Amino acid sequence: MKLRKVTAATAAVLALGLTATACGSDDGNGSGSSGGDKIKIGIKYDQPGLGLKEPDGSFSGFDVDVATYVAKQLGYDANQIEFVETKTPDRENALKRGDVKFIAATYSINDERKKSVDFAGPYLLAHQDLLVKSDSDISKATDLNGKNLCSVTGSTSAQNVRNDFAPKANLKENSGYSECISALQSGAVDALTTDDSILAGFAAQKQYKGQFKLVGLKLSNENYGIGVKKGDTETLNKINAALEKMVSSKAWDKAVADNFGPANYKNEPAPKIGQIVK
Ligand code: GLU
Repeated sequence: MKLRKVTAATAAVLALGLTATACGSDDGNGSGSSGGDKIKIGIKYDQPGLGLKEPDGSFSGFDVDVATYVAKQLGYDANQIEFVETKTPDRENALKRGDVKFIAATYSINDERKKSVDFAGPYLLAHQDLLVKSDSDISKATDLNGKNLCSVTGSTSAQNVRNDFAPKANLKENSGYSECISALQSGAVDALTTDDSILAGFAAQKQYKGQFKLVGLKLSNENYGIGVKKGDTETLNKINAALEKMVSSKAWDKAVADNFGPANYKNEPAPKIGQIVK
């Protein structure tokens, strides 16, 4: 009886392995760029100004524009792109499984992540900050101790708060940024912490106008990279070349103006490819 169970389990594992291998091959994630092929790209769906799925099903934001530019350099027109939502804690696995060819999703380069994925870039430097209600008197990170704070599971921001800035804050981790914004609006949390680029996008949303403010603390350096499957050096090199061209051709400046202009986000200048700001 016991033996039969083990055999069944082994068969299940084998079957899963076969399915995973089939999915990881050339079909779908954009390994081949001939003709009408599609490319799958991971983005965020709930970050206004960076990666947002609009009510009509279209996509907008700086990461979307960067991804579209890079895809073009890789041989894919905009209509060949299939955007896939890659939430913060899912990004490494999405690349490992081969669900997407690359990820442009406010994805900070760090040593922990580099163990399981490779990064092209960086293509943007952001900083961790706090978003609070307009009348809040929170003005520094240590004010958060004893307060309710929202962040997203698996983000560098959540980790920094726990390990560093405010270990005594009551940190509530959600699966996405929209959940944190609702919690801030309802008063369930006193602050939301993540990259200033993301917070500025939320603060500028019509429905939140005047309700929130960024505290303006540069709590960390977040070097956004484009994630690729570990060892996919060919794609990595092509993406780095594409990012360099995006900056030198001023397409990067246009994407900045289009997406950060409305939120009045004062971004840092374009980073140099391969140079991480510690
Ligand atoms: N850039 C940070 C990170 O990669 C926070 C934003 C996010 O959740 O993507 O963790």
